[in-house]
Parts: sequence; structure tokens; C-alpha cells
Amino acid sequence: GSEIPEFGFDNSYVRDLPGTFVAQAPRAVPAPKLLRLNEALAAELGLDVAALRPVAAEVFGGNRLPAGAEPVAQAYAGHQFGGFSPQLGDGRALLLGEVIDRAGQRRDIALKGSGRTPFSRGGDGLAAVGPVLREYLIGEAMHALGVPTSRALAAVATGAQVLRERALPGAVLTRVAASHLRVGTFEFFSARGQADQVKALADYAIARHYPEVTGAENRYVAFFDAVVARQARLIAQWMGLGFIHGVMNTDNMTISGETIDYGPCAFMEAYSPGAVFSSIDRQGRYAYANQPLILAWNLARLAEALLPLFDADETRAIDLANGRLEAIAGQYRAEWLAVMRGKLGLAGEDPGDLALAEGFLAALQGSDFTLGFRRLADAVTDEGKLRGMFTDTAALERWLPQWRARRAADAAARIRAVNPIYIPRNEKVEAALAAAGEGDLAPFEALLAVIGDPYQERAGLEAYALPAPEAFVAGFRTF
Ligand code: AMP
Ligand code: MG
Ligand code: MG
Repeated sequence: GSEIPEFGFDNSYVRDLPGTFVAQAPRAVPAPKLLRLNEALAAELGLDVAALRPVAAEVFGGNRLPAGAEPVAQAYAGHQFGGFSPQLGDGRALLLGEVIDRAGQRRDIALKGSGRTPFSRGGDGLAAVGPVLREYLIGEAMHALGVPTSRALAAVATGAQVLRERALPGAVLTRVAASHLRVGTFEFFSARGQADQVKALADYAIARHYPEVTGAENRYVAFFDAVVARQARLIAQWMGLGFIHGVMNTDNMTISGETIDYGPCAFMEAYSPGAVFSSIDRQGRYAYANQPLILAWNLARLAEALLPLFDADETRAIDLANGRLEAIAGQYRAEWLAVMRGKLGLAGEDPGDLALAEGFLAALQGSDFTLGFRRLADAVTDEGKLRGMFTDTAALERWLPQWRARRAADAAARIRAVNPIYIPRNEKVEAALAAAGEGDLAPFEALLAVIGDPYQERAGLEAYALPAPEAFVAGFRTF
């Protein structure tokens, strides 16, 4: 076949962190077929896109390794729905290596669905076309929305079947991330009493993601603070977009501050603080409004793992950690309020802003979250459209005069810049995946184009901006 272009791998994880991974080759797949190559991202990574195209199916299906790739399964643990699993690790993912992108950032390139690893436990190591394309879509949507996220570089159908409740067509996703370090990576070694590995991981994470804390008086506490800051900002962004991750286990929370692992996630349509879509989240642990609480809970698990690094004296270390943990709720709240000020078109800060934001959300209950905010832009000149979409009109009428008095002169432009008109609406995502399952990728491509430009309203795309019909909403679950 054609030659594989140079990736320019520089694999610091494998080089610097022996004992944190297991070497594992991807399994060859019978009939790799490229479903999609993210050419814009490939170019961003400095890859030769024209040379990549003819070999993309074989490379990103796992059949041919580019020069310099060193595939490994990474070890990690995790608190899953509150319970500790001491050994998870990459059960179906392989880090191929790292590249330095055109902006000088180090990025992981990893396969997902490329066969069993020593961490697979009972799993088959595989992925199906539907969930692979779902992760592709949602990651690209989040990126276009301005949320830090892992992204899909390619999706390849394998030609093999994957057995779930029924036989499904298999696929491999190629995922690009700032790194795959998770809270659970630290927990893995902490739980085994491997303090040296926890320290090596922390030093590695500082060098890779937070070089600015290197000179701090207590660099490990400063490192923890930096992770808190990025994660608080991230979850505030999720909340501002109505995004529900669905599986905020500590193994799915990154050290880099990127969103990772798009499984049973969804964007909320009708606003309801208790919204849950995941079929496996029966207690609602990861409900929309719980996400900020889980943020703090997960960061407490990271603090526990880092405790010996905070101070050699355990009491002092615990005091340091407790001080940090108590501050997280306030830090998150400040990030959230900043997001809400943007969404409401407010300039500067006013002591009444929190009440104003909460008042709008109270009125919005039961109405479409995304359109509710977007229509505020129209309401600057004509309040008709906004009124027309609220179920609780009395609450809206009480709120409007306060907002008119507080909003910025250029509120409409501010609102349109941060409140999307297009999100990956659940019905559209499901329809695109269903068509792809029948071999028709056109709806997937169309949806990808829409969500790739979420803030600019375009003619002819009305159907993508509308909430799903009641009949769809009632039965919608994610898996
Ligand atoms: P997740 O819930 O997707 O974050 O995955 C939790 C853990 O289960 C991770 O260790 C995954 O690698 C593993 N896992 C998920 N699906 C599979 C599968 N089909 N085969 C092997 N391991 C899996
Ligand atoms: Mg995961
Ligand atoms: Mg997953």
C-alpha cells in the first residue's frame, strides 16, 4: 500500500513514566473502511493530510502503525458511581503516542475500540459504529462551542461485528487529547501505596500541563489549585450549555481540564435541574444540577491521592487539603456566575447578578434551555419570540423589567456570541446514527456541519434549532 506519512511522535509518557502502562499492539481488523477523517484536526496536528487520506483506514483501524508509534494501555483506577475500583485502565483504548501540534502543544493520539488489553477484564475491547460516531459528533460540538475537549481524528468501520444486546457493526475511534491523565491515574498508584509513582505522575503533569507552578513554594498544592481552577471553569461551561456528561467517574475526569469520554452524555432540552439521560445512572448521581457537587467530590479524591506530596506531616497535609476543598464551591460559583453574565448579556459586575441569573433559570423551568437563552438576544428589540416559548410566563414577566434595567447596551451581540443556536439535539444525533447504521452517512455529515458553527444562525437550518417532539423526549435514554 501507500506509504504512511511522518507523524513525528515524541512519546514522553512511555519515556518518563515506566510502570504506568503496558505495551499492547492494536488488533488487526478484517475490512477497515474510513467513515470520517477530521482533516482540519489532522492539519492542526501537523500531519500531511493528502498523504494520510489513502492510508487513513488502515492506520486508524489499527492495521498499520505509523513510524514511531509505541502503543500502550495506560493504568488507572477510579471511583465509579461512588465506589472505588482499584484497577480499571485502558480496557479498549491504546495510546499510540504524542505529537507536538502546530501551536506547539503536546497532544495524545489514541485508538479506542482496538481490541483487548491486559486491563479489559470481562470486556471485548471493542466499540460499535454508533457510539464511535456519537463521540465524534459531541466532541466536535463541544470544541466548536469553545469547551476544552478531546476530539476525534478519525472513525473507521472495522468490518467485524461487536456483540452487545445484538450484533452491531464495529468501529475504531481515534481520539486526540491534551493527555489522558485522569484523577483515576493518581488514585491507581496512591491506592497501591506507590508514593514514588504518584510523585512522578505529578511532576509529569506539572511539566506537561501546568509549567507555571514549577517555581511555586509548594508546587504540589499549586498543582492541585491549578487543576481545580481548570475543572471549575470546565464544569461551569458545561452547565452554561446544558451539557450532562452522564458518567463523571473519577476515571473520566482529566488532569488537563478537558472533557473526555463521551458515553451516555446529552444536551438537555427542556430545562430541569434533575435531568438525567443515562440508562445506567439510576440514582441520578450525575444529574445536571449535581455536576458541580461531583466536581468537588472528584477533586477531593485527587487531593487524597496527592496528600503525601502536600506535606510530609500528615496533619498539615490534611489541613492544606481541607482548606482547598472548602474553597471549591465558591470558585465554581464565581466561574458559573461569569458564564451566566455572558449568557444574559450583562457587562461588568453587579451584586444583583446572582439573583438575576437564578430568577431567569427559575422562570425557564420546563422550557427549552438553549433557545431560552438565545431568544434573549431577540428580546432586546422584540420580546414576542421569547414570551412565546416560555411555559411559566408569569415568572418571565416578573423577571424581564430587572433584566431590561441591567443588561448591556450591546446585549444582543453579547448573547449571540455565547448562546448557541445549534447544539447536537438528541433526536438529530439519534437519527444521524441510525442512518449511519444503514450505511447512509449523509445525515451525520450534515449534522457535523451544523454543530461545527453553533453561534451563527443560518437560513434553512430551522429544524436543527428546534426542540424534539414530545413523543421523542419522553422515551429518550442514552447508553
Ligand atoms: P467508561 O465507563 O467508558 O469510562 O469505561 C470504564 C472502564 O471500562 C474503562 O477501564 C474502560 O477501558 C473499560 N471498558 C469499557 N468498555 C469496554 C470494552 N468493551 N472492553 C473492555 N473494556 C471496556
Ligand atoms: Mg472512561
Ligand atoms: Mg467510555
